[in-house]
Amino acid sequence: MQAHAYHSGMASPHTTVAALLVQARARIDPIDAEWLLLHVLGKPRSWLFAHADDALTDTQAARFDALLVRREAGEPVAYITGSRGFWTLELAVSPATLIPRPETELLVEQALERLPAGRALRIADLGTGSGAIALALAKERPQAQVVATDASPEALAIAQHNALHNHIGNVEFHLGSWLQALPGDAFDLITSNPPYIADGDPHLDQGDLRFEPAMALSCGPDGLNAIRTIVRDAPAHLRPGGWLLLEHGLDQGGAVRALLESAAYVDIATVQDLEQRDRVTLGRIPQGGSCPPSLRSHAPAAIAPSAG
Ligand code: GLN
Repeated sequence: MQAHAYHSGMASPHTTVAALLVQARARIDPIDAEWLLLHVLGKPRSWLFAHADDALTDTQAARFDALLVRREAGEPVAYITGSRGFWTLELAVSPATLIPRPETELLVEQALERLPAGRALRIADLGTGSGAIALALAKERPQAQVVATDASPEALAIAQHNALHNHIGNVEFHLGSWLQALPGDAFDLITSNPPYIADGDPHLDQGDLRFEPAMALSCGPDGLNAIRTIVRDAPAHLRPGGWLLLEHGLDQGGAVRALLESAAYVDIATVQDLEQRDRVTLGRIPQGGSCPPSLRSHAPAAIAPSAG
C-alpha cells in the first residue's frame, strides 16, 4: 500500500466537512449524518454553516466512519451520541431508556396548562426513563416538587444524572413499578408516557424500536396493561381535582377515555398532536363537594375534539 502522505492527526484534502458529509449523506439519513459528524467534532449545530471547508484529521474522519457503520447497522443516533434534546434540555440516554420523542412535548404542554406557576405543587412522572417529562416540568415549575419513578435502576440512574447535569434540584427519584414507587399521596398531577404498543406488534422489529428497551415500549396483547394499572391506581395518589395525563398510541384515545370513564374520572379529553393524531388523554378525579358534573369547569379550549 502506498505510504500515506499525511501524518496521523493532520488534515487530508478529501476530508473537509463538506466532502465527508456528501459521502455520508449517500449512506444514511442526511440529518443523522450531520448529528454524527458534530458529535465527533464536539461542535454545536450552528458551527456547520460557517465551516464546510474545514478539514478533519484522519483520526476524526476514521471515528466518523465508525459511527456511520453503526448507524448503517440500525443503531439509533441518540444511542450512538448518548444524548437527545427534549424541551429545553439536553438529556443523556442509553439503551436502558426510551429515546425522548418530540411528540411527548405535547404531554408537557398539557401538564403545564394545569400547573399554575409559583405554587408548591406535587407532581409525579411514572416510568420516567431518561427523566424527560419530569425534568421539563420541574424546570418550568421550580416551586413544585416532582417525583420521578422507574422500575429500571439503570434508567433511574440516567434520569438522576440528567437532573444534576441540567441543574434541576426539585426532583426526587424512586425505584419501582408505576404507582407502587410513589411516596405518599395527594399529588396535584400525575403524568406518564408508559409502554403502549401491543406485544408482538411488527413495528417493534423495525427502525429504532429494535434497540429500545422492550419494557418501555410494549405492554400486553392490546398494549394497554400499563395504562390500565395507572388509571386504576392513580386516584389513591391524587388530591381532589388532581389530574392524570397519559400519552398513548394513535388508535387508543377511545379505549383510554373509556378506562378513565369507568374509573369515575371527570373532565376527560383526548388531545391531538400537530398532525391531528390522538396522542394524550387526560382526566381528573372529582373536586368533591356537591358541584354536579355539568357545572364543573370544562376542559380548556385548546383541547381538540376527541375522535370517536
Ligand atoms: N411513541 C413510541 C413509538 O411508537 C412508543 C413509546 C411508548 O410506548 N411509550 O415509537
